[in-house]
Amino acid sequence: MNAAWEVVIGLEIHAQLATSSKIFSGASTAYGADPNTQACLVDLGYPGVLPVLNAEVVRMACKFGLAVDATIAPRSVFARKNYFYPDLPKGYQISQYELPIVVGGELVIAGDDGEEKCIRITRAHLEEDAGKSIHEGLDQYSGIDLNRAGTPLLEIVSEPDLSSAKEAVAYMRKIHSIVRYLEICDGNMQEGSFRCDANVSIRPRGQTELGTRAELKNLNSFRFVEKAINYEIERQIDVIEDGGCVRQETRLYDSDRNETRPMRSKEEANDYRYFPDPDLLPVEIDEAFIAAVRETLPELPGAKQERFVADYGIKRDDAIILTASRPLADYFEATASASAASAQTVAHWVIGDLSAALNRDGLDIADSALSAAQLAGLLDRIDDNTISGKIAKEVFDAMWSGEGSADDVIEARGLRQITDSSAIDSIVDAVIAANPGQVAEYRAGKDKLIGFFVGQVMKETAGKANPGQVNEALKRKLAEG
Ligand code: ADP
Ligand code: MG
Repeated sequence: MNAAWEVVIGLEIHAQLATSSKIFSGASTAYGADPNTQACLVDLGYPGVLPVLNAEVVRMACKFGLAVDATIAPRSVFARKNYFYPDLPKGYQISQYELPIVVGGELVIAGDDGEEKCIRITRAHLEEDAGKSIHEGLDQYSGIDLNRAGTPLLEIVSEPDLSSAKEAVAYMRKIHSIVRYLEICDGNMQEGSFRCDANVSIRPRGQTELGTRAELKNLNSFRFVEKAINYEIERQIDVIEDGGCVRQETRLYDSDRNETRPMRSKEEANDYRYFPDPDLLPVEIDEAFIAAVRETLPELPGAKQERFVADYGIKRDDAIILTASRPLADYFEATASASAASAQTVAHWVIGDLSAALNRDGLDIADSALSAAQLAGLLDRIDDNTISGKIAKEVFDAMWSGEGSADDVIEARGLRQITDSSAIDSIVDAVIAANPGQVAEYRAGKDKLIGFFVGQVMKETAGKANPGQVNEALKRKLAEG
């Protein structure tokens, strides 16, 4: 990064709220249906029809606000944002403008300097999504699919508190984790249920005034957010250092070419002619409603993380990974409570072998081939010395491919660890007798040959000898000579 320039970023995150019907109509929000089969007259923007607010979206927005310590506005107002686009037949989008439902709030991320950094949330407002223009597979013309029109969105706007692409991603991940914990958004980024616009500017280090920003539209993966912002920072530095000016504009990120391109010059708010929607009443929320919503809040990732460190004594970094998703955290807790192994061992296996297997097979934790109880069964056999940690990996793979419980696999494959010290001693004797050259070198001071001897014993026992005992026996017997 260029030391002369300071980067300033604010994110506008769109989280699609996980309601079964749309924000102002009873049409379904299910993803992937045939075009225009899930759009009713309200979504199609027919004249004379009236929107009716879905109460569930109010509850969900309120839940989010409470989770980030925001103020829930006692009164918020829907406004019309007027613009023309083929996927917006009404000619306006219903959004919230001057009076959003969620005001303020903050959350903590790991900053670039490794310290905790507080990111302020400006507001979160409710709005409807637009439809989609379709070009693929159509020759000479475009299609309009209005299934997505009227899908409820919560737009979460941050203050320009983020100072790098990495911080922007950390913030976005945190919001992603929170909305999934709250079960208000499925977080599916490929389907566009969670996406963001990144506002990026630079300024000479030390300057208080903000630089002119470019807005990067519709970034739908964490990787793209990071790459698009980094590209944009370099572009702006080049423009300014070449004596030019950054233009306030909207840009599109092209992931194939890893570059951003201008889309349109940025419109000003007054271009939209916002005004309160006369078809919708203001949303009024009282304390009793807020208290009832507060009752439904689950333990959030931050609190869970603290508890995992304090109660289970696991490493903070592991607690961060395990609490990023609620089902993963639940899986860890279920395994830890079912197993005699230490919580740190459980954390190690859930983050390591289990997550690797899930990734490899493209599975969610909910579809894990091993239940928490099955994994606990395996870890118990390490804990009681039936198998070594190394053999456990083989048992894990066998269990993953459906060969049964840990005990079944250990029995069927004869993997029980050799802990009988006289058996280990006699194998050690045989290895020492078979390698006189190495024995002489070891005794002459080449200590690291111990690894060679351990390897030989493990080879003789197909990895089943207890490693601690093997080490002990080798050192004892080699010292004897
Ligand atoms: P608009 O609604 O026109 O996109 P806002 O003023 O509401 O504009 O800001 C949208 C986002 O842009 C916010 O997240 C805000 O923090 C961020 N932002 C505003 N000014 C700047 C700037 N100069 N550099 C970076 N981000 C900015
Ligand atoms: Mg914007």
